[in-house]
Amino acid sequence: MKSSNQSEWIARSLKSVWHPCTQMQHHETLPLIPVSHGRGAWLFDAEGRRYLDGISSWWVNLFGHANPRINAALKDQLDLLEHAMLAGFTHEPVIRLSEQLAARTGNMLGHCFYASDGASAVEIALKMSFHFWRNSGQGEKQEFVCLKGSYHGETIGALMVTDVALFRDAYGPLLQRAHVIESPDFRQAREGETAADVARRAAGKLEALLQERAGKIAAVIVEPLVQCATGMAMYDPLYLSEVRALCDRYQVHLIADEIAVGCGRTGTFFACEQANIWPDFLCLSKGISGGYLPLSLVMTRDAIYQGFYDADVRRGFLHSHSYTGNPLACRAALATLAIFDEDDVLNRNRQRAARITEALAPLAEHPKVRHFRNRGMIWAFDAVIGDAAAAASFPQRFFAAALQRELLLRPIGRTVYLMPPYVLDEEETVRLAAATRAAFEEVIGA
Ligand SMILES: *Cc1c(COP(=O)(O)O)cnc(C)c1O
Repeated sequence: MKSSNQSEWIARSLKSVWHPCTQMQHHETLPLIPVSHGRGAWLFDAEGRRYLDGISSWWVNLFGHANPRINAALKDQLDLLEHAMLAGFTHEPVIRLSEQLAARTGNMLGHCFYASDGASAVEIALKMSFHFWRNSGQGEKQEFVCLKGSYHGETIGALMVTDVALFRDAYGPLLQRAHVIESPDFRQAREGETAADVARRAAGKLEALLQERAGKIAAVIVEPLVQCATGMAMYDPLYLSEVRALCDRYQVHLIADEIAVGCGRTGTFFACEQANIWPDFLCLSKGISGGYLPLSLVMTRDAIYQGFYDADVRRGFLHSHSYTGNPLACRAALATLAIFDEDDVLNRNRQRAARITEALAPLAEHPKVRHFRNRGMIWAFDAVIGDAAAAASFPQRFFAAALQRELLLRPIGRTVYLMPPYVLDEEETVRLAAATRAAFEEVIGA
């Protein structure tokens, strides 16, 4: 996209590209930005304007755009092997990646199954859970449980366990619905309740359901610590340890969807570490390839793997995707993991996060801000807006106001959130906070 004729690129895109998660008619007024290149935390358009990527390009980019180390790994891999099927064949990048990820769970989750996008990883976990129970003579375990406000992807199977009305309702008739239980979102706290009290109360609701549907439920799926797509609903780690204990007591699988919260986003490499638990299935995608290539995977325990290990082909897990375990994507993931180790990323993010929180302090105290919250490298707050029409147009107005200040942020409803890549320096931190505040004050009219 070298041409400086930006408006022509926009017109051509709107004519031929059907953009995701978009009512295309809104582009009659909403800006569409043709990106020509990226560097570090910045995206540049065809006319040389730049935008600080405050949401890591939909939560995938961890170490900046055009990262030299990931670029070098991919260039090297490109001359070795771009792709080979993973049935009957294997290759070094997929082996190393599986081993390194397993090691990060202390080999509790020692078997990795691959796909290309997050929704497929969720479907794999649901299918594996159901199929495991069937292989163990408990085929009546067919039901799934998800949380209010949960988001696990938008294919038909993943929508089954997704509770975001806007994405789900149009397809309601096609879906076999899961049980939707109370979320431990700490904003639900009643007078005098702590976040841990809310977690205990929500876990109590799960226990009641597990009792009522005893022997029928295959798995509970959660987004550990932060329910991102519903608007960064955060909760106490106690909820995860309570759910783990309940799943053990009632013989139900626990699926941890760490597609958004994994890879250091919440402060630990896996969010589950903060509750000292391991799930039965752990889904990863988004950040795992550093935001370079589509890659997702499901990690599971040896006991589950053994439940499929048999002479009978039908007891095997026959799921596949054409690009399963793509070597380029795995190599990008290996380069990403190497950066975590070489740069002591989790520790350095602690300091980075403290600086960002400090820079955002004036917003946290703003009279039109509620529930300012942070976990790891995620910040969010809810705008106080009285008027319903103003609230409805808030995300788009904020998006446009931020772009004018060289900042890419896309609020979810009234929730403004920041999920920057793990590379912001002090100057970029100041810019991020100042532009967020200025955009907010313009839009809120304060
Ligand atoms: C993004 C996301 C998914 C879906 O991943 P896709 O690659 O978009 O299909 C699933 N679960 C969570 C928690 C996510 O944030």
